[in-house]
Amino acid sequence: MEIKEYAGDLAEKYPAIKDVIEKRETLWINPNVIPFHMIDGLCQLVVSDEDIEDAGARLDRFAPFIKRCFPETEKTNGLIESPLRAIPKMQEELSNSVSGRQDQTDLTSSISGGQDQAGRRSFGIPGTLMLKMDSHLAIAGSVKARGGIYEVLKHAEDLAISEGKITVGDNYEKFDSNEMRDFLSGYTMQVGSTGNLGLSIGIMSAFLGFKVKVHMSCDAKQWKKDMLRSKGVEVIEYEDDYSKAVAEGRRNSDQDPKSHFVDDEQSLDLFLGYAVAAKRLKEQLDDINITVDQAHPLIVYIPAGVGGAPGGVGYGLKRVFGDDVHVFYTEPVECPSLLAGFASGLYEKANVSDFGLSCNTHADGLACASPSGLVTRLCGNMVSGDMTIDDARLYDYMRMLMDTEDIRIEPSSCASFAGPVLFHATENGANYRRARGMTDEIMENATHICWATGGALVPEEIWQQYLETYI
Ligand SMILES: *Cc1c(COP(=O)(O)O)cnc(C)c1O
Repeated sequence: MEIKEYAGDLAEKYPAIKDVIEKRETLWINPNVIPFHMIDGLCQLVVSDEDIEDAGARLDRFAPFIKRCFPETEKTNGLIESPLRAIPKMQEELSNSVSGRQDQTDLTSSISGGQDQAGRRSFGIPGTLMLKMDSHLAIAGSVKARGGIYEVLKHAEDLAISEGKITVGDNYEKFDSNEMRDFLSGYTMQVGSTGNLGLSIGIMSAFLGFKVKVHMSCDAKQWKKDMLRSKGVEVIEYEDDYSKAVAEGRRNSDQDPKSHFVDDEQSLDLFLGYAVAAKRLKEQLDDINITVDQAHPLIVYIPAGVGGAPGGVGYGLKRVFGDDVHVFYTEPVECPSLLAGFASGLYEKANVSDFGLSCNTHADGLACASPSGLVTRLCGNMVSGDMTIDDARLYDYMRMLMDTEDIRIEPSSCASFAGPVLFHATENGANYRRARGMTDEIMENATHICWATGGALVPEEIWQQYLETYI
């Protein structure tokens, strides 16, 4: 594959981009980050605090309906929210992993820690490592239960209000009625997806009575298609990649005035559904007395595909914690589309093929060759950086988490564990900390959150395949 000139130029200027082209795991530090208060006002023109509040209030209105229809949300009172859990044994294992493995030569040039006689390195992960378990979110079993379900509910509400079927003051349990399902069955929801977004939109839309068409890219796993079809969803398969599935879905939907397209590349509603996570996370941290301020930084690592989920969650976190939160995205070595969009300044026009990369990855949820324009533009001055991870390590981390903490999350999700490792094991990570006064003492008080983005719906036989996968 030919490398575009702009990509070659970037590689000469930035060693991390050279790593990208040479398919080495790397930590790219975003040179365009500026203090949050300087972009706050401008950002609020696009997505304001009120917009996020409004989205949260909408989810609260639907909570009685969700609770009634999905008993697994009983304990959260109809909110679709996930546990935040400390994972100390995983933290210890991860700390040892770089020093312990033989096949880490790729990292040698960028390791800042000391080396022992055997050439092994140790660095440790100071502070507290936590897992945000969106892998176990109700209904959709992935982070898509935030954005995807939010957009479906919002569309159902818009239609019901405009046709006089409901008012904002009503009890939304009304949505669980034959009358409402008959009404919504006159409308269609469509979406393009690598799998999990299709699951969340498909499950929720079908439940409300909508007709649903899910346009699946070649990366989508068979079991996800089967599960959707079993719920009455029409699944349309493409032999092409994700962008094609989205383009076809959009075109199909535009031809039908009664069809709504959930646009993963530019939807503000999806983004808002994700952003609601931030304030709820702050409440969870408050509940366990974890402070976030300059002396107690919060560092968050979120796997990224097209960028919608990590974009919305990360943006929400910046609005709540400002410069005290450091948001990193994590992507497969063969498919760092957000990194490409940010680093090139080409936003949605960047494509990983420009860097000679294939977009082929076992991380099906992250296989998007070009990033979201909305996210790369809105978050370009606030995202701290981006990490890349080898596919082989996704399975290693998946097994490691099961062995140490008895938690299962799907391989795509495990990209988040590249975060604390590369943040501490690379020269770029050390430089980042130095530039921001994040001393060893401060790092002892840091909270790291790896965002687990999916897993709960994975069938048992697929887990067995994952467990036996070594690359
Ligand atoms: C969708 C997804 C992501 C990333 O979300 P994007 O909005 O595509 O960036 C990460 N992990 C899993 C498991 C996903 O399904």
